[in-house]
Amino acid sequence: MLVLVINCGSSSVKYNLIETEDKSDVCKGIIERIGAVTAIVKHEPTNGKKTKDSRTINNHVDALNEILSYLLNADNGIINSPDDIKAVGHRVVHGGEDFKDSALVDESVLEAIEQAFDLAPLHNPPNLKGIQAAREALPNIPHVAVFDTAFHHSLPAKAYLYGLPHRLYRRYKIRKYGFHGTSHYYVSRQYYQMTEKPVKETKVISCHLGNGASIAAIDGGKSVDCSMGFTPLSGLVMGTRCGDIDPSILFYLVEKEELPLNSLHALLNRHSGLLGLSGYGSDMRDLIVEAENGDRRCQRAIDVFCHRVKQYIGSYVATMNGCDSIIFTAGIGENSAYIRKKCVRELDYLGIKLDEERNNNIKRGEINRISTDNSRVEVLVVPTNEELVIAIDAAKIASASKQSPWI
Ligand code: AMP
Repeated sequence: MLVLVINCGSSSVKYNLIETEDKSDVCKGIIERIGAVTAIVKHEPTNGKKTKDSRTINNHVDALNEILSYLLNADNGIINSPDDIKAVGHRVVHGGEDFKDSALVDESVLEAIEQAFDLAPLHNPPNLKGIQAAREALPNIPHVAVFDTAFHHSLPAKAYLYGLPHRLYRRYKIRKYGFHGTSHYYVSRQYYQMTEKPVKETKVISCHLGNGASIAAIDGGKSVDCSMGFTPLSGLVMGTRCGDIDPSILFYLVEKEELPLNSLHALLNRHSGLLGLSGYGSDMRDLIVEAENGDRRCQRAIDVFCHRVKQYIGSYVATMNGCDSIIFTAGIGENSAYIRKKCVRELDYLGIKLDEERNNNIKRGEINRISTDNSRVEVLVVPTNEELVIAIDAAKIASASKQSPWI
């Protein structure tokens, strides 16, 4: 089934056209800087000429129409008619407590996504905008919402509750939700396909290390803990997000620097993490180069990043009382042998032994074992594919649905 996968940010729309039968990417692209004087428009068909363009794209509806007109363009020949697309899968960051699975979009689903605006103010509003724009552009096919939080629905209460008055959970649903669910789900399923162990007996620690970063403990196929929490701000040190900090720092800062709420928000989300620690940048590639050239601030940022990853790995070994496999994925996890080595260094008391040669020579696009054959815990590099998870879920729900998507 041909499925269009949409991932909307506040000023961007990313898309993938995926054939779910053979799991192939037919075309992908991105429109950035929507609403600015000139937006950047990129289309990359798998078997065709890549294009990059800049022009005005006023809003998300225009962006969706631009994508469709590109796909339908007679010269490029990607699809012949909008009817060739059988479903649209939408990435939605926060599903609150309502969604433990993906859902066919109807009015109640739209309402629930809106109700979670407070929980994910940066992500859910543009996600909803994207769904509305896509339904306008493609009104006759099912639209499916796939939630980043859904995979973590299995967290037990002892993992998702914070040490706060319980009425705050009851009244406001303040709890850990966990994110990057589609990625943790995908890489753990890739592992299950290669291991001979029954899934029920597996204990996996999945490290999604990208610009946003999180670690999940997956016991018997189910997520039992995740480093991200109420929002995607907690846990690991990220590109620009601070990760775990002592909450008292906020009171201290309010007093010392008289920061208003929105500045605090920006400080923790946009000016912290690798960027804040290094004072140089948020891109791990740049930090590694600068650290190699002797920049101590960049080295410090890398050290803090890896230390936190290592701590979470240790903590999740304790949570699951064991671990069969540690998986590295996403931009940093898939591409940096140096960071992977730093994160699992001196974990030999857990029986983890890294094979340097394997770690330094991974094959792109494949599952790679980077631990030695006698390592008690396998360490793997597994390329993630969140878009494929969204496409497959959308195809499954669309074929099961006999309803009009508008009901
Ligand atoms: P993602 O959010 O998954 O796209 O990952 C983005 C992050 O991956 C950025 O911090 C990049 O610097 C980082 N990254 C990509 N390639 C490499 C690499 N070869 N070495 C280190 N970091 C990398």
